[in-house]
Amino acid sequence: MIRLNDISKSYPAGFGRVYVLRHVDLEIKEGDFLSIMGPSGAGKSTLLHILGLLEDPSEGEYLFLDESVQGLNEKKRTLLHRDHIGFVFQQYHLIDELTVYENIETPLLYKKLGASERKSRVADVLDRFNIVAKKDLFPSQLSGGQQQLVGVARAIVARPRVIFADEPTGNLHSDQAREIMSLFRELNEKDGITIVQVTHSEENAGYGKRIVNLKDGVVITRN
Ligand code: ADP
Ligand code: ADP
Repeated sequence: MIRLNDISKSYPAGFGRVYVLRHVDLEIKEGDFLSIMGPSGAGKSTLLHILGLLEDPSEGEYLFLDESVQGLNEKKRTLLHRDHIGFVFQQYHLIDELTVYENIETPLLYKKLGASERKSRVADVLDRFNIVAKKDLFPSQLSGGQQQLVGVARAIVARPRVIFADEPTGNLHSDQAREIMSLFRELNEKDGITIVQVTHSEENAGYGKRIVNLKDGVVITRN
């Protein structure tokens, strides 16, 4: 589903360039649950942003669903993102002015689905995640764990093939973290959604199927 061939990412610095990722090769098959680990500054977020089509590599080739991402114009890239990718953020990134219901509905509006289809899809995830009673509340009225449930609900409501999650439990207590990780496992095993998460936590990585370790922008181990 995803293939990175000899990807590097660098920025101009002084007279030269600073490399954030160097010669990264990575293949992610449909149905995988991958954890990207490594110390702070290793390049984990940058790798996730490249995988999630939010940033381009400076060198190398990225194939997403067998298509070279570099060759795509902005419109096609946006469509690929909209139709296949869900993102989950450490800080949730919910829209404060919208209710839980409206936050979850947002990707369906981008997808231009009709009102009745939107309604039934949002109702399904509210029900599945056990947050029907919270649907008219605003993010500020929820605990961190509940906000992240809404974040995951929003990420899956449009039925993506892959979810990219950047430290999804970084702000949560351990019991809330386990709830989110169990949910990811279920989405992976039952729904077949491919999951790629950045995490510092061995326990979180234990919910996944394999780990890639980065250090100083280089893949040092993988299993
Ligand atoms: P991690 O997620 O593993 O902590 P990041 O991918 O966030 O690592 O960042 C890796 C390195 O790249 C850091 O040293 C960071 O300062 C640097 N970096 C990230 N974005 C930029 C940028 N836009 N310009 C210059 N350096 C950057
Ligand atoms: P952190 O993991 O450090 O908390 P965030 O998850 O807050 O970082 O955000 C990571 C990056 O993703 C930020 O640089 C932000 O600008 C970008 N970002 C946030 N929301 C979106 C979005 N909906 N689409 C694309 N990029 C986003």
